[in-house]
Amino acid sequence: MTTSTTPLYYLSLAEAAAALSSGRISSAELTDAVIARAEAVEPQLHALLSADPAAARAQAQASDARRAAGKSLGPLDGIPIGLKDVIAVRDQPLTAGSRMLANFISPYDATVTRRLREAGAVLYGRHNCDEFAMGSSTENSAFHPTGNPWDLERVPGGSSGGSAAALAAGEALATLGSDTGGSIRQPAALCGVVGLKPTYGRVSRYGLVAYASSLDQIGPFGRTVEDVALVLQAIAGHDERDSTSLRAKTEDFGAELRGPAIPRRLGLPREYFGEGLDPEVAAAVEQAVSYYRGLGCEVRPVSLPHTPYCLDTYYVLATAEASSNLSRYDGIRYGHRCAEPRDLNDLYSRSRAEGFGAEVKRRIILGTYVLSSGYYDAYYLRAQKVRTLVRRDFLQAFADVDALLTPTSPIPAFRRGEKADPLAMYLCDIYTIGANLAGLPAMSVPCGFTRAGLPVGFQLLGQPLGEAQLLALGHAYDREHQWGRRHPNL
Ligand code: GLN
Repeated sequence: MTTSTTPLYYLSLAEAAAALSSGRISSAELTDAVIARAEAVEPQLHALLSADPAAARAQAQASDARRAAGKSLGPLDGIPIGLKDVIAVRDQPLTAGSRMLANFISPYDATVTRRLREAGAVLYGRHNCDEFAMGSSTENSAFHPTGNPWDLERVPGGSSGGSAAALAAGEALATLGSDTGGSIRQPAALCGVVGLKPTYGRVSRYGLVAYASSLDQIGPFGRTVEDVALVLQAIAGHDERDSTSLRAKTEDFGAELRGPAIPRRLGLPREYFGEGLDPEVAAAVEQAVSYYRGLGCEVRPVSLPHTPYCLDTYYVLATAEASSNLSRYDGIRYGHRCAEPRDLNDLYSRSRAEGFGAEVKRRIILGTYVLSSGYYDAYYLRAQKVRTLVRRDFLQAFADVDALLTPTSPIPAFRRGEKADPLAMYLCDIYTIGANLAGLPAMSVPCGFTRAGLPVGFQLLGQPLGEAQLLALGHAYDREHQWGRRHPNL
């Protein structure tokens, strides 16, 4: 797929790392190529909210100097990596796609940011997203929508749409997003790149703008499964600043990819192949299934009987947590403050009315309702119980199979403005929400294109902390097909 004429900004991370380490290219050249590419495509794509070319160039020079002194920090050293604008970077804007934080400058680095710096990565762009990560199309950004690089009239998915679109368009060699109900995997599928949501607790959320804390997880986007493994390696691991971060050791994900063994028993959940699944998406996913069969995997149907309740459960729990998390934006401690408040109540209510967009308000109202006394038991508590049943479904399935394979999104990228009804938008996540409710690792891998040229992805779900197996399984398909190495006409 790669030829000597591949532009630097379209190299895979692994290829760029090899080229840097052999001295064929410098980080300064690579970074300049990425910056020039971003400047060329941004007027149409709008995947960035901000960028710091000067800081990126300085980091690239520092990387080249380290390498010249024989002190390379590893495969990410000198590689331009972009961050969704919900991840804190010290002294840089952090908007979460919201007017509420339009003027906020982060006083500190998120743990993932610090880890990327320690691995030598060059931090250039901050990517557009749905406001506070609430949405599936990036249309809820308070600033502007982002185009899908494969068809600019269509959405890139969301909420990490900017991170997926930027990578597909060559504005970074890898990016980070966050995933609460599908926000890494769905945009990865719609933009034709790989996206991984790690096990809940695998990656620290310190410095992530919180949406729904029992579901939020940071994860990487890459052009290949191998690239995603390299980024995960750098950001995973326990962090005492995030009390939910797990103490599990971080395996060598790369070694697992190179190993001969992949999980052999694959389950296809019946409930994920029914009504609402686009036939072209179904056909592309079916081809991936056939490939695994051809590798000698045993593929069998399984059932996750509580799947029909996932979406409702998610919208009770996520909105409840959001209503609590977003109470901190009061015009005093953080965020936008209205002009000339009459009194304290006026300050709170007008600051919030002006700072938040419609979808965020809808969720705060819904979440406040399900937590209110008299309704708490009927909604919130009940949803927690259903969540337990959903998790049990998955764990029972894993008694018989090593991993599950499903479509990532029921449909390919849709047109901007097409899903005006919030419920229609919520249905974009029917296949991704289960992994968040159950805390499982899950990855979208590109598996082809529709006749109209829109990318399709399939999803692999693994057991808790089963990232190494999941990556090995995804890589077995990806290294043969490399759909994420195709590039849009931009
Ligand atoms: N699309 C889902 C929502 O709107 C998931 C968002 C996410 O994962 N951050 O809540």
